[in-house]
Amino acid sequence: MSNKVDAPEKGKDFIRQIIDKDNETGKYQGRVHTRFPPEPNGYLHIGHAKSICLNFGLARDYNGKCNLRFDDTNPVKEDVEYVDSIREDLRWLGFKWDDNFYASGYFDKLYYIAELFIKMGKAYVDHQSADEIRGNRGTLKEPGTNSPYRDRTIQENLDLFRAMRAGDLEDGTCILRGKIDMAAANFMLRDPALYRIKHAEHHRTGDTWCIYPMYDFTHGLSDAMEGITHSICTLEFENNRPLYDWCVNTLMEGLRQPELFGENATIYNELAALPGFNERPYQYEFARLNITGTVLSKRKLIQLVQEGYVSGWDDPRMPTISGFRRRGYTPESIRDFCERIGVAKSNSTVEFALLEHCVRQDLNERAPRYLGVMDPVKLVIENYPEDQVDEFTMPLHPEDESYGERAVPFSRELWMERADFMEDPPKKFFRMGVGREVRLRSAYYVTCTGFDKDADGNITKIRATYDPETKGGWSKDGRKIKGTMHWVSARHGIQAEIRNYSNLFTTENPNSVEEGKTFVDYVDPDSLEVLTNCWVEPALADMEPGTNFQFERTGYFCADTRDHQPGSKLVFNRTTTLRDSWAKIQKQMGK
Ligand code: ATP
Ligand code: MG
Repeated sequence: MSNKVDAPEKGKDFIRQIIDKDNETGKYQGRVHTRFPPEPNGYLHIGHAKSICLNFGLARDYNGKCNLRFDDTNPVKEDVEYVDSIREDLRWLGFKWDDNFYASGYFDKLYYIAELFIKMGKAYVDHQSADEIRGNRGTLKEPGTNSPYRDRTIQENLDLFRAMRAGDLEDGTCILRGKIDMAAANFMLRDPALYRIKHAEHHRTGDTWCIYPMYDFTHGLSDAMEGITHSICTLEFENNRPLYDWCVNTLMEGLRQPELFGENATIYNELAALPGFNERPYQYEFARLNITGTVLSKRKLIQLVQEGYVSGWDDPRMPTISGFRRRGYTPESIRDFCERIGVAKSNSTVEFALLEHCVRQDLNERAPRYLGVMDPVKLVIENYPEDQVDEFTMPLHPEDESYGERAVPFSRELWMERADFMEDPPKKFFRMGVGREVRLRSAYYVTCTGFDKDADGNITKIRATYDPETKGGWSKDGRKIKGTMHWVSARHGIQAEIRNYSNLFTTENPNSVEEGKTFVDYVDPDSLEVLTNCWVEPALADMEPGTNFQFERTGYFCADTRDHQPGSKLVFNRTTTLRDSWAKIQKQMGK
């Protein structure tokens, strides 16, 4: 069969194997608790969908839990608009989080944990400039140089850290660093930054804070506070894992030293009681998703939006969840895609055609069928009475009767596709040419008798006669017809706008660019084609925005969620054509 691809991997991926092992040894008493931790600094893209399907999928398969946690420690780039969009996209994808937390909700606790680290002699305030810190970092071969502030007393560090918090110091004056090892082979352990001063308004905490915790400090500790068991992230965080472990282990060590708790004993005792500290979380890394022909980085996607290369985050050419949704992709097709690509430990690039294949398969099963003419030319049935109208009943789905049917009116003047006619057709052109007989879908057999042209040589009208004995689109005498064409009654049809999308980039890999160029230089200005003179059957008049359907012989479409207005202005986005390029790729590979 041409449209089959490999069945999803039946064997368990390496994360599930780890969980099985943990369950065997009783590490978390069978508990599985994951989290999806987006930073609200952009909209979710298809790469995030892979992480979502994995994290929420684990919770589902192991009867566990999955939290949504906004990793919002960088106030300058974050916004509630992104928080809202992420929640909407997750729901649309069909996932329900158990709890929704914010890293900013832990700012208090994180602050006291930092104080605890200071009291343990594991953190210090460094007054070196950013340049000095960089200069003293060392190289792959050379160890770094200890900061001259590294041996400050605990009291001095506490006072300085409290001054940082009090707002007395300007951005960049100093930072809090973990006191680990300036000679560590892993750079992440060469006294990493834990807290920095940033006088910036946070979208949730306002101006309560002027110091903000760094990602590495925040992440593992947030996982631990939530009782996360398996903390899954992408491969580029592999080097961060020892630091993740250091933060979690240092806290656990600190919580075993009540003499350090002082006046904040309540907070520390609360932390010590959390499951995360008896059964600490571990980080595992999997390969991030890359897809041919697009970029999956929020930094790049935000540039496309801000510089106007696309109409917004939900432009149907964007690889964002909202872009795919507006284009007509279904949640089922995206989940199917994520399942097929699986979870591995080495990076690779997936063909965009596979994603298209998934949506095509899903819509083939579920999308109702209609008739619409994209590039119209008039077809006049000369022997069909001027005032006659036939109504043909057509099923909405060829394989599923439960979809019902609709009536399609037929009259003397019809719209047909310009490409379905040739003046001088070769033998194998099974559509219309003078003297040839074709079937008009579910209506009649018609024979072309001639055509008209304007002064520029454009065909303006095609003429034909019909055989009344072929009503319904079949003939009693068993006459064979090779070609079937779609049509729309000119008198009854409705004008519609069709938006066709092709790849946003002119290259397969916009992540690797020629010298002197950036990825935006590869944006294809012709990737959106707007057809304003399309004619569609009347049954589409009241279609709701967001409805998926197929135009027979053309492709899958979706009523636009921004511009389509039922009853007045029809705007349809082409989700994908009917041609399955993934099947072709599979064939070429001999599968
Ligand atoms: P970007 O580079 O696009 O900004 P990010 O990793 O910074 O992505 P986050 O909001 O921090 O974005 O990501 C939330 C989660 O989604 C993280 O666990 C991250 O590892 C995962 N994720 C992000 N991009 C991908 C991808 N392309 N494939 C798989 N997982 C991804
Ligand atoms: Mg990030």
